[in-house]
Amino acid sequence: MTKRAVDDLLRPEGRPALVVQTAFLGDTVLTTPLLAHLARRGPVDVVVRADAAALLMGHPAVRDIIPYDKRGRDRGLAGLLRLVRRVRQRVSGEPRDASVSYLVHASLRSALIPRLAGIPVRVGWTQRWPASALYTHTVPFPAHGHHARRLMALAAAPEDAVPHQTRPSLHPGAAEVVVIERHPAAGARWWRDPRPMVVLAPGSVWGTKRWSYFPQLARVLREPCRLAVVGGAADGLLATAIRQQAPDAVDFTGTLSLLETTALVARADAVVSNDSLVVHVASATDTPTVALFGPTVPAFGFGPMAVHHVVLQVESLACRPCHHHGPARCPLGHHRCMRELSVRQVRDAVEAMLSRRPTP
Ligand code: SF4
Repeated sequence: MTKRAVDDLLRPEGRPALVVQTAFLGDTVLTTPLLAHLARRGPVDVVVRADAAALLMGHPAVRDIIPYDKRGRDRGLAGLLRLVRRVRQRVSGEPRDASVSYLVHASLRSALIPRLAGIPVRVGWTQRWPASALYTHTVPFPAHGHHARRLMALAAAPEDAVPHQTRPSLHPGAAEVVVIERHPAAGARWWRDPRPMVVLAPGSVWGTKRWSYFPQLARVLREPCRLAVVGGAADGLLATAIRQQAPDAVDFTGTLSLLETTALVARADAVVSNDSLVVHVASATDTPTVALFGPTVPAFGFGPMAVHHVVLQVESLACRPCHHHGPARCPLGHHRCMRELSVRQVRDAVEAMLSRRPTP
């Protein structure tokens, strides 16, 4: 079935939508353009991983967030059925047969949720067996383009959607701003410092995606910039290594929620990040981004989308890309894709980003 046909089927507008996105945190961020698009048609509820629910708090396109703790409280068949009951309660107030579900994540478990909840229209990607056996309508997964734009194809969004419609969006509120402004590691003086703020995001779940020279970069940026390090609790050692080279850098790792991190990134003048969640957060806040790609490539669809961004990568390496996510260790043992990205290259890219800042 073509996108056009799906679009026709889903009219008239005004039908409530249930979007099921149970993949990684970054995928949740990249689903927000789809959510915003669907919200123009009617109310949108979202099933997301429990740890991703916080990302969507306060998002104006979302009516209700239904967290799915698939590895914890909701694991196994009993947990799935509990989730299905929550979904059924959510849609029970809707006119019968009105809801449309969008299965962004093509897993059988995701497809079972609206099927068991009795949602009659289930739209998913073509040829994603066995999940696609439970779809009532399918759309071919676009082979090219940014993932945020590809996901919009599920709702038959126009191909020519303008960039601001396909860039992700997140909505930290006043409470998140208060948390970062009163963070004990920073202090009022740090916030008053007129030097440009650069956020460093040295972590990644996948080992080969981590650029090892963040401490050296911090050393050359510590005078002209004020530095903030973000990441999860597991990134604490990376932050410590950075602070050994730049003692004034503020370590926010492991202390901020996802939306608080978003509020911090929104205040930054530039972000330097591996190919990880923070790239997508910076896309949502339109913060100038220097993105470092090693074993993966932007052509996978997960590059930065901030208006001002640059991707640094070793283009000439024949072994790139070597893995969809990035292996834990370099299969060739040399990790040249990251080791050959120099501190000077990254510093120059940061300086180029900062030179675009409006003069005060
Ligand atoms: S094989 Fe190549 S792309 Fe993959 S981690 Fe090693 S150097 Fe990087």
